[in-house]
Amino acid sequence: MIMPTYLVALIVGELEATDPVDVSGVPLRVLHVPGKAHLSEFALDIGAFALRYFTEYFGIPYPGDKLDMIAIPDFSHGAMENLGAITYRETALLVDPETSTQAERARIADVVAHEIAHMWFGDLVTMRWWNGVWLNEAFASFMETKCVEAYRPDWKRWLAFAGERAYAMDIDALESTRPIEFDVESPEQASEMFDSLTYSKGQSVLRMLEVYLGEEVFRSGIAAYLAAHAYGNTETADLWRALETASGEAVGDIMEAWVNRGGFPRLTVSGDGDTYRIEQEQFRYLGSGTDRWEVPVLYSSGDGPGRVLVAGDVTRLDAGPELLLNRRGQGFYRVRYDAGLFDGVVSRLPDLVAGERYAVVSDAWANVLAGDLDGMSFVAVCRRLGDEPEPAVWEPALGGLSELDRVVAPGARPWLQGVVRDLVGPLADRLGWEPQPGESDLDRKLRGRLITARGILGRDTETAKLATEVFETWLDRRDAVDGEVGAAAVAVVAATGGAAEFERFVELYRTAASPQDEVRFLRAAVSVPDPATAARVVEMVIDGTVRRQDSPWVLAGLIGHRDTGPATWELIKHRWDEVTATPPPQTTRRVIDYIPYRSEPEVAADIEAWLQDHPLPGVTKYAAQQIERMRVRVGLREREAPRLGPGASSS
Ligand SMILES: [Zn+2]
Repeated sequence: MIMPTYLVALIVGELEATDPVDVSGVPLRVLHVPGKAHLSEFALDIGAFALRYFTEYFGIPYPGDKLDMIAIPDFSHGAMENLGAITYRETALLVDPETSTQAERARIADVVAHEIAHMWFGDLVTMRWWNGVWLNEAFASFMETKCVEAYRPDWKRWLAFAGERAYAMDIDALESTRPIEFDVESPEQASEMFDSLTYSKGQSVLRMLEVYLGEEVFRSGIAAYLAAHAYGNTETADLWRALETASGEAVGDIMEAWVNRGGFPRLTVSGDGDTYRIEQEQFRYLGSGTDRWEVPVLYSSGDGPGRVLVAGDVTRLDAGPELLLNRRGQGFYRVRYDAGLFDGVVSRLPDLVAGERYAVVSDAWANVLAGDLDGMSFVAVCRRLGDEPEPAVWEPALGGLSELDRVVAPGARPWLQGVVRDLVGPLADRLGWEPQPGESDLDRKLRGRLITARGILGRDTETAKLATEVFETWLDRRDAVDGEVGAAAVAVVAATGGAAEFERFVELYRTAASPQDEVRFLRAAVSVPDPATAARVVEMVIDGTVRRQDSPWVLAGLIGHRDTGPATWELIKHRWDEVTATPPPQTTRRVIDYIPYRSEPEVAADIEAWLQDHPLPGVTKYAAQQIERMRVRVGLREREAPRLGPGASSS
């Protein structure tokens, strides 16, 4: 068939194939290196589901005549959508459902759904040029989330997506952000398009549009677009035209600012209970921007739900008491309330729906980073979450507290650890260490998450002791310990361990029985808080003990380590050429994934100067963004270190 050259693949290796599964006439197989057939069942299940789901959603048959999914033991990216021969790194395709965590299975469901969506979005219809790569990637990501939500509704995939949206907002709040779509004139620019703005901001604005137009109107526009351009190339305008025809709305006008301009708005609300004032500004952590957007806002109040299109600087809104903006939490904007309204929203937090709870906590943290809310007030918000049942909603709270733990003055750190223990302790006690009958996957995930938070962030000695016992049992008999609890125990043992634990993790890494275990034990080895073991990991990267596919995240983890990062950074600088030769091309940028958390002013200045003198090849935009995110956190430390502690009061 007619297809772009970048989708042609020829794969040579010692591989075995599963028996084909017949999916409405399409044979679907998993290929893997010998001995891993028992890890392929889950991928075949989600693969067959996705193939049927997309055939129905798009109303267009799968464009190939067979579909092979191939697990490659050392693969630079997550996966690649070659037509009918999709390649994956092993952690994105092979899994033991019995011993893995929900996050590990969900990652496979995500990546498989994403790649199969590409068979239509990308392979059947392809962007004309790299400026339009978001047409491929944002759509495949959007379809991935829809598909996995349908596959496992109990996993609440759209709620979990809030984390990806928040990360994209963290980048998009920078002066060094970029529009989703921009002119691409060099291979480096094309390569740098594959970032969270393309994937996650792109997906967020598509979701916002789908909610606005309605799911069925949106679907029919997409189906018409694919049918009209099958075996051809497109521009973004072709998509807007199809959606305009389907909806009768001026889709191109609405989407213009969201796609062709960087940044996004924050809405600041003030008011007395029936008349509110909403001020729009461009949200920036540092400096200020002057752009404005047409923001489709859903809200709720004592008078019920409502919607308003916020445009320009100031919008007046008549609504009942207890106003909440961003109802359902799907908007790509931040909200800030005046003091009176904020206290009300925080006190009602447990009564909001999960997406809204996420948004309130996440907005509060963004306002802390911007210097518009103090850390104590954020702690006060977190304290309302003690009974929170959704692991996804815990993430912005524990993420923010973990950032505060990095900048708090040493004398106040025990106090902050106590805050974490008080916060997660009661619910962790109720959940215990063993699953109960009738629990969902997310209930189990929550148990693991709280054990980790209590043991690592809360430094709870009892949790550390129990984790050590569970770890030994788990190594002896995997089926005696729940997968989430076992994974949590490994993380706690690693974060509180030393040289002896490190040796065991390295050995376990070498003999791991599944791709997930391999990553788990390598990550555990990286997180041991000991400069000497960190130096050993640097050697393992250079001598090839660590697969090249894993070198970027391993190095990033070493540099970002709360306690040993600064010493390891010095070492990495000494071995710079050797170290930076290890990541596969186009993944080098991931080495600086965690430099933003190096908020010690002298370390941050050193990293910035070093990267200016020793730029990573092909990493210009991302380096600028990571350095700016680092400056944001240097500012966080400056503000919060002197005032965060038991004596402070929130404002
Ligand atoms: Zn993709």
